[in-house]
Parts: sequence; structure tokens; C-alpha cells
Amino acid sequence: MYGINKLAAMAAQNGRADILSELHENAFLKRFAARPVRSWFVRWDTAFTAELKKYPLFNTGALAEIYDGNVFDITDECAVLCATTESDFFNALTQENAYRKMRELSAEEYTAVREFIVLHPLCSGRDIRRFKIAHNSPEIQSVFNAAYEDIPQDSYKCPECGWTMRFIGKRSVCCNNSCSRTHRTRDQFERIDSSYEKRLVHGVMRYMCIPGKIEIKIRNEAEKLGCETELWPEHDKYDIKIILPDGSVWAIDAKTHLNPYNLASQIKNDGSFTSEQADEHIYVVPHERKAENPAYCDICKDALQPGVLFMTDKELYQKIKEAI
Ligand SMILES: [Zn+2]
Repeated sequence: MYGINKLAAMAAQNGRADILSELHENAFLKRFAARPVRSWFVRWDTAFTAELKKYPLFNTGALAEIYDGNVFDITDECAVLCATTESDFFNALTQENAYRKMRELSAEEYTAVREFIVLHPLCSGRDIRRFKIAHNSPEIQSVFNAAYEDIPQDSYKCPECGWTMRFIGKRSVCCNNSCSRTHRTRDQFERIDSSYEKRLVHGVMRYMCIPGKIEIKIRNEAEKLGCETELWPEHDKYDIKIILPDGSVWAIDAKTHLNPYNLASQIKNDGSFTSEQADEHIYVVPHERKAENPAYCDICKDALQPGVLFMTDKELYQKIKEAI
């Protein structure tokens, strides 16, 4: 409600007093939240909108989606925007709890547990027992207790991310709205096999497992090309250390943001990555981001600190090939 009042005040100050009648909760959801944010400001004062263009929120798609005429849900872009302002409180907290326990492990255990989490959105008790036998440390159980929970009844397997898909009426629901975009019906999903006992808690799935998939992909590709690698070196100082055959070290920070303006503002303020000891510092995004938005990399490159590079994962593999 506070946000709607602020928008109303801005509209009154910027030549759009005519839209004040649309600024109550129900109309706001339909006429604003369900449309891309930049479309809210059509016919506003042009100097004011020029100023707004610099903000991630202005460049965000719709904040809400409408289902069955009057059911609303927030979009993935909105969830990510909320998380960066720390108001995705519950999910951030559950991830934080597991993360804090992981940081108490040795650096090798930390990396092994984190890789297990990325590769096992769902797991059986046997998977966990095997892992604990291979990595004999009593603290690992407390990480699993924080990261995993029982699988709810009547769950299906999400074909997009591998987590649980559930149904609310006819609508399928996963950890990300984008998983439900293909709108399959219930009989098109695979039921979860009874050998699975646990799933990641939502926050760990969203903030550790999903971004981790590109980190592991980059590690695997760099190794295939003949490099040595290390994931999350020294308790996650950054994402992937690549050591080329000549001994030079490339520090990789993988990013999965949907909104390039959001990522650009994060990069601008990230002094810790560039201070890490390495011959190259490279931000890498999945090539799909550039395919969806050809301007994505250029928007982020404008925010880079001197000497830091920004590229897609495919461009990184090419750069490694050229360097070897
Ligand atoms: Zn999913």
C-alpha cells in the first residue's frame, strides 16, 4: 500500500493526476503490477522518466501474473528484486541458516556439500548416508538437517529444475514461476519416485541450487578443455577458480540474474571479487541471457571496474581455447 501511495504522489507531481483513480489495490494489480514496469510511465513527464531509466525496477517486467481471471502470484523477476532488497525474508533466512552451518565445515567439505546440494534437489536417505560415509564429519548432518526437508505428499517432479512440482487447482507450482510456463496438465508430469525421501528447502533451492547449475557446468567445460579447477575456493571467496596449463589463474563469478540492470548495480558495488588474487577476473552469465536480451552484456559492461571482464559462458569457453 505504501508503494501505491508513493506512485500516486509521483503521478500527481509529474503530470498524470488522471491515473489517481486507478491507484487502489485491486486496480493497481491489474493495470500496473501485471504489466512491465516501464509501461506504467507512458505519457509521464519525460525528464522524470529519463531519470527513472537508470533504476533496476524501471527495467523489470511485470511484477505479478494473473491466473484464472483473479488469482495473483508474483513473477520470478519480482521475487529476485525482492530478494536483493532482502524482503524475500523467509527464503533468504532458510538459505542463510544452511549456509552458516556449511561455513563451519573445512574448505574441502564445504565444496563437497555444496556440490551435492546443487546436484540433488531431491535425494534419498541412501544418497545422504553414502555421502556421510565418504566425508566422515559429524557436522555434515546438521547441514543436511538445515538444507533438506520431507517431500510433501502429492508432489510431482519438475522437468525444468528437478525440484517438486505441486498443483493448486489446475495450476502447477514450483520454486520459480518460469518452471510453470509451459502449462502442462497434471498427467503430463512424472510422480516423484518413492526412493526419494527429501527435497531441498525452498530458499536453498532458489538461492544455492539453481545458480549452482551454471557454476558446475563452467567447471566441467573448463576441465574438458584441459584446465584445473576449484569450485567455491576457500569457503566461497568466489565461484570457480580456473588454472590454465601455463599456471595462470582466472577467477570466475557466475551470475544468473534475469534483469541486467539489477546485476549491473550489484557489479558496480562489488569490490570483494576484484580484490581476489588472480590474473583475470571475469563475470560470466548463461548464454541464454544474451539470447533473450541482446543488450544484456553491454548494460553490465558499463558497470565494470577497470580490468574486469564480462561475458557469456560460451564466450568464456572460446577464450579458454584461444589461451591454451
Ligand atoms: Zn521447477
